[in-house]
Amino acid sequence: MNQVQLKRTNEDKIEFIDLVSQKNRVLKNVQNAIQAVLDHGAYVMGPEVVTLEGQLAAFCGSGYAISCSSGTDALLLVLMAKDIGPGDAVFLPSFTFPATPESVALLGAHPVFVDVNPETFNMDPASLLDAIERAKLAGLTPRAIIPVDLFGQPVDYEAIQKVANDHDLWILCDGAQSFGATYGDKSVGNIGLATATSFFPAKPLGCYGDGGAVFTNDKALCETIKSIRVHGQGVDKYDNVRVGLNARMDTIQAAVLIEKLKIFPDEIQERQQVANYYAEGLKDVVGVPFVQENTTSVWAQYTILLKDLNEREGLKAHLAEQGIPTAIYYPKPLQEQVAYKKYYLPGQNLDVSKSLSDRVLSLPMHAYLTTQQQDRIIVAVVDFMNK
Ligand SMILES: *Cc1c(COP(=O)(O)O)cnc(C)c1O
Repeated sequence: MNQVQLKRTNEDKIEFIDLVSQKNRVLKNVQNAIQAVLDHGAYVMGPEVVTLEGQLAAFCGSGYAISCSSGTDALLLVLMAKDIGPGDAVFLPSFTFPATPESVALLGAHPVFVDVNPETFNMDPASLLDAIERAKLAGLTPRAIIPVDLFGQPVDYEAIQKVANDHDLWILCDGAQSFGATYGDKSVGNIGLATATSFFPAKPLGCYGDGGAVFTNDKALCETIKSIRVHGQGVDKYDNVRVGLNARMDTIQAAVLIEKLKIFPDEIQERQQVANYYAEGLKDVVGVPFVQENTTSVWAQYTILLKDLNEREGLKAHLAEQGIPTAIYYPKPLQEQVAYKKYYLPGQNLDVSKSLSDRVLSLPMHAYLTTQQQDRIIVAVVDFMNK
């Protein structure tokens, strides 16, 4: 193959998430920002961390943003600050990434599974009510709800907040996939008691390593989380008033995020255009994502729904043959995971999450997909479905 052909082949390659094009867009600024950190040398809790926290809070309209080491630690920080522990029930969807139940289980509390809505794939309020009753029957104390904004779409928070109010529970939003999305007139980060998000590289807003943040409007909660973030410090690091963690964000990652946040609003629009184009091309042949009224998604994933496992596996193989990468989020609901099945409460119906795990398929989704690439993907899906 000669050079010209080789170059064309690479340009035509469809990435599931294209971090290379994004890196090229921000490269000079990121290099300068990292150099600035190398020059001042404050690698931990340097000035960029404080700057980023101010910008993140302003971005979503939240009172406080507390940066941290990962999305998982963001969840853990809030649960620790609220003294979640043995005997407590924390309600979360059975169709999610394991970091959600992990944060609860690590504290000795009981993650109680809640089924999801078949259209939005997000927590179902009716199933939540059922789970609360079953948790009480099992002798647990209902404490909190962790709705997950799956694939970038905020949960139906009005319905979930009503259940929370009626049962005296508080809400920790798992916004690891949805930072940048909106629900009514609110942005993710400004809903519930607190929101946890992740800046893992593949998330809509990612750094170049691990990172996360907690958002809240509660000043006392913010102070407690900041203490836990640094070993439970009181007046200083060597005054320990509680058991904490080392859960800080590196200054270099904060510097990277400051640069990426500048292009994030553009990228959100570009992701929306990609999603619109997919929906137009695919809506007649497969189940395309449903977004509720007055809600925007940041499209962490573009996930289509097939008839059954056979059809999903067939389409996945067909796309792979055409050089189109796909992924399955998530192939097993929590009630079937070795580490988590013991938390299933007798009699619970989690059939929707079970069915979705057999039928979902996530297509390439990022701000740098071209319409030519999307046409290739759409034609390949349509061809398979019309066979
Ligand atoms: C990615 C993710 C997390 C964890 O974030 P990390 O930064 O990888 O620790 C938590 N919850 C959900 C729903 C996620 O997608």
